[in-house]
Amino acid sequence: MAAGDREELASLAADLRGHLEWLRDTGVREVPALPKAPQAAASAAPVSSSPEASESAGPQVSLRAAVRATVGAPEQRAATTSSPAKPVAPPAPLPPPAAANVIVNRPAPAARAEPRPVAPLPAPSGARLEGAAPKTLEQIRAELGACTRCKLSSKRKNIVFGVGSPKAELVFVGEGPGADEDEQGIPFVGAAGQLLTKMIEAMGYTRDEVYICNVVKCRPPGNRNPEPDEIQACEPFLKQQLASLKPRVIVTLGKFAAQTLLRDETSITRLRGNWREYCGIRLMPTFHPAYLLRSPSEKKKVWEDLQQVMKVFGKEPARR
Ligand code: SF4
Repeated sequence: MAAGDREELASLAADLRGHLEWLRDTGVREVPALPKAPQAAASAAPVSSSPEASESAGPQVSLRAAVRATVGAPEQRAATTSSPAKPVAPPAPLPPPAAANVIVNRPAPAARAEPRPVAPLPAPSGARLEGAAPKTLEQIRAELGACTRCKLSSKRKNIVFGVGSPKAELVFVGEGPGADEDEQGIPFVGAAGQLLTKMIEAMGYTRDEVYICNVVKCRPPGNRNPEPDEIQACEPFLKQQLASLKPRVIVTLGKFAAQTLLRDETSITRLRGNWREYCGIRLMPTFHPAYLLRSPSEKKKVWEDLQQVMKVFGKEPARR
C-alpha cells in the first residue's frame, strides 16, 4: 500500500470515529445502513473490465464518497453537534384495530323517522264561514240544478233541497230524504218529519222560523245509508247552505249529519248532548226522529239536548 493510501485510510478512519461519537452523543444506539454510493462518486470511478483496477481505485473512491455522504464533512458534523439534540417525536398513534374501524366507520344510524303528517281534514269544524261572499239559497239551488253528481240521481223523484227561513237562527240537518220527502220534494214530511215538527214547536218555534235540510238531497234507494261518495258529492251544497244561512245553532239529527259536519266518527250515542262547533257555529248533535219512532224511550234524551239549545236563545219550554 502506498503512503498516500495509508494517509487516506487514516483520514477515513478518523472521520468514521468522529461520526460514531456524534451518533452516540445524539442518543443513536443503532448505526444506520450505509446508503448506496453517490452516483457522482460511482460515475467518477473509472469502469474497467480489469479485476485489479476495480480493487485498487474504484472501491476506495466509492468508500470514501459513501462515508462522506453518510457522515458529512467534519465541519458539518461540528455544526450539527453544537445544536441541542431535538426531542424525539412521540410515535404516531397506531391506527385503531380493524374491529374499531368497523365501529368508527359504521354509518350513523338513520335519523328517526318523523311521524307522518296527518292529512288536513277538508272541512275543519272549527273553521269560520268566511271568505267569499256567500250565495243566496236561490243561487245555490240554481247551481244544483237537475243534479247528477252522484248515483242517487238515478232513482230519485225529486231533489229535496231544504225548507224554512233564509234568516233562520236555528238549522236542523238530517241525513237524507225518505220516501215521502222524495215524493214531495220537502224534507221531514213523513212520520219522522211530523215528530220533528212537534219537537220544533216544543222549543217555541214554527217550521217556518227555522231551516231544515239534509246532508244528501236525493233519497238513497230503500232508505239505505248514504255512501261516502254520495256524501262527498253533495256535502258542498250543504256547506253553501250553512254559509248562506249563518245560523247561531245547528242541530244535527242522527249520526251521519253529525259525523259528516264534525269529521268525527264517534258514535252518535257519545256525540249527542255535547256542544261542538262547525265553522264557528255552535252545533248540538242529537238522535234522529226516525230513531225516536223506534225507541220512544230515547225522547227524553233528545229533549234534554234541545233544552240546551233553547237556553242559547233564552227560550222557555212551551206549556203543554
Ligand atoms: S244526492 Fe246531491 S250530489 Fe247526489 S245527485 Fe242528489 S243533489 Fe246531486
